[in-house]
Amino acid sequence: MRIGAHLREDADPLASADELGIDVFQMFVTDPQKWTKPKPNPHAAAIRESPVDVVVHSSYQINVASLNNRLRMPSRKAVVEQADAAAELGAFGLVVHGGHLRDGEDSAEGFANWRKLFDRQADKGGFGVPILIENTAGGDHAMARTLESIDRLWEAVGDFEQAGFCLDTCHAWAGGEDLVGLVERVKEITGRIDLVHLNNSRDEFDSGRDRHANLASGHIDPEVLAAVAKAADAPVILETPAEGIPADLEYLRSAL
Ligand SMILES: [Zn+2]
Repeated sequence: MRIGAHLREDADPLASADELGIDVFQMFVTDPQKWTKPKPNPHAAAIRESPVDVVVHSSYQINVASLNNRLRMPSRKAVVEQADAAAELGAFGLVVHGGHLRDGEDSAEGFANWRKLFDRQADKGGFGVPILIENTAGGDHAMARTLESIDRLWEAVGDFEQAGFCLDTCHAWAGGEDLVGLVERVKEITGRIDLVHLNNSRDEFDSGRDRHANLASGHIDPEVLAAVAKAADAPVILETPAEGIPADLEYLRSAL
């Protein structure tokens, strides 16, 4: 099982991966708070050729489900651009949050927008890499917070080969899903888990808050986290506070 962490994109990620002794890492390809188009990465060739696996996390403001054209259209464009940049790095996927709607909007339209994202791109030969849809923690109108919404989302996108799933343990916990047996329940719906974001939570169960903690220092029993990683049988990425990552890696390696 490959275990790694999200690394800062402004340094040489391979050097950081080497320092941590990890064989998979996650990075951004552009400023995650902005709409800026990804620039060529000076380390691209080295990352592509390295035996270390890489996955890309898309920028945070992307919301492909949105019923607002002025948000959805740039979101679609950014997904295409960032998937191309991910392919340039030899990444195995681009993580995209499920997104959400606003009060009073029809969730069916949000799920339909997810379907359109894949449908449109399928006509153009698909995305540069698979799109790994990540569950999120908060909000009443999220597309991928609860198993119920993930079920509806998968009805919309499940027949696209390039639609994958990223399970974030902090988000599931804060979103109100019990982690015990969750991998099995998710796989019953999606048939796949392509990536695990293994994070503890600084907040209570079902808090709706997205604040990650190191494995041994949040509200989730770390043994339950290790069990999720084991059951998912997919690459594991830590998105925990950087200072605690070496200890998180050590805990996971011994638990697995
Ligand atoms: Zn995550």
